[in-house]
Amino acid sequence: MKRIKICDITAPELIGSEVDVMGWVRTRRGNKHVQFIALNDGSTVNNLQVVVDLTKFDDEQLKPITTGASLHVTGTLVASQGRGQSVEVQATAITVLGTADDTYPMQKKGHTLEFLREKAHLRLRTNLFGAIFRIRHHLAFAIHKFFNDHGFFYLNTPLITASDAEGAGDMFRVSTLDPDDLPRTEDGHVDYSRDFFGKHTSLTVSGQLEGELGATALGAIYTFGPTFRAENSNTPRHLAEFWMIEPEASFIDITDNMDLAEEFIKYCISYALEHCHDDIAYLDDYHMNKAKDTQESLIERIEGVLKESFVRLTYTEGIDILKASGRKFEFPVEWGVDLQSEHERYLVEEHFHRPVILTDYPRDIKAFYMKQNEDGKTVRAMDVLFPQIGEIIGGSEREADYDKLLAEIERRNIPMKDMWWYLETRKFGTVPHSGFGLGFERLILFVTGMANIRDVIAFPRTPGNAEF
Ligand code: ATP
Ligand code: MN
Repeated sequence: MKRIKICDITAPELIGSEVDVMGWVRTRRGNKHVQFIALNDGSTVNNLQVVVDLTKFDDEQLKPITTGASLHVTGTLVASQGRGQSVEVQATAITVLGTADDTYPMQKKGHTLEFLREKAHLRLRTNLFGAIFRIRHHLAFAIHKFFNDHGFFYLNTPLITASDAEGAGDMFRVSTLDPDDLPRTEDGHVDYSRDFFGKHTSLTVSGQLEGELGATALGAIYTFGPTFRAENSNTPRHLAEFWMIEPEASFIDITDNMDLAEEFIKYCISYALEHCHDDIAYLDDYHMNKAKDTQESLIERIEGVLKESFVRLTYTEGIDILKASGRKFEFPVEWGVDLQSEHERYLVEEHFHRPVILTDYPRDIKAFYMKQNEDGKTVRAMDVLFPQIGEIIGGSEREADYDKLLAEIERRNIPMKDMWWYLETRKFGTVPHSGFGLGFERLILFVTGMANIRDVIAFPRTPGNAEF
């Protein structure tokens, strides 16, 4: 079968030739002389118009051609007379591959996003979700391309881990023990030595610690995989299962790390602008129609981020700005508090009007492995804050000094027996090194302009929801 994809059909040399297309019916309209079928095959947001001359087809044949049905259409490709498309197909033969009756839920436009989330098995067939998931694909490809071109090796770190020391979030237990009949130790605790791995294990919250083992051997690595956090917070920016990109490189300090993060994120965004033009334009229209008021368009917001360099300032300077703002925040600001997304967004959207990299956070609100500053109070952390999103990247220069790292682990009472392998990176040939984690879905939120993280992953996992 010489099927042609709809994304390829505008090639000028095809005009006048016979083509075979397959796809799903979006709409059908017309009169008793001619019918127009909008066909979409998922390869592009643009529908193909199929023109059906009713002198060549009878009613019985056309009856099953309803919204959602799948078709194989053969016809002649011609330049279109109508508005909205450059070419159309004049059908000579139509085979209905699969019918869809009027219980098909994606009948009409204008369903709410909440409704579509409940129909996540079919929402991919809408133009909106088609656009989002094509963009997601291209961003994933851009990420691999960026790191490959910069000499970073793709390292796959384990999803099942026995260390719960990272502290990035609550973890999901992985066990084959029978919860109704748990083996117990003499003192009454669950005996995990009888579990599958012979110890207590969980799903990983970050691949970083293993990533550092790779970076201190291969020089520079990145991970790109699923990450799990049992955060019982129902926010538009948190998932229980999300995808994270974690580059880690030896011989770079926090400034190099910030440069890398900025170059990387700008690369991904411009790659999407270049390769997802139709989908981003579709989303731009979608948001404009919804917002009504004349706000900044999606494309303007995206281009705005590319134009200027990110502002870099310390956490302490950030706190001073927030305190001087006179703004009443839900969570009051004081040196030492962890920033909430309302604070992050104030700095980005109202104070600086561009992305911000905040550095040198108080050590007690950051992880144990971050490089300690001379002041004894702060660490060389760097968070990248974005408009609409808040934190999109969290990273740091890592503590490379064995004694300092060990002292910090002890100060925090992190169980040492789990950390011996990590400490050996500092014991043998330690080097300055840095890295960061980018939440993939948060990047997609920014590029698509969607507001809820549940709408940029195909089958979201959140508290109380593991459907599909
Ligand atoms: P937040 O403060 O927003 O909860 P975090 O500080 O816990 O994030 P990190 O541990 O620094 O996050 O993780 C690195 C990146 O992973 C974050 O910058 C963010 O982009 C993303 N991320 C973290 N938690 C989630 C989540 N539950 N769902 C989706 N993305 C997340
Ligand atoms: Mn963080």
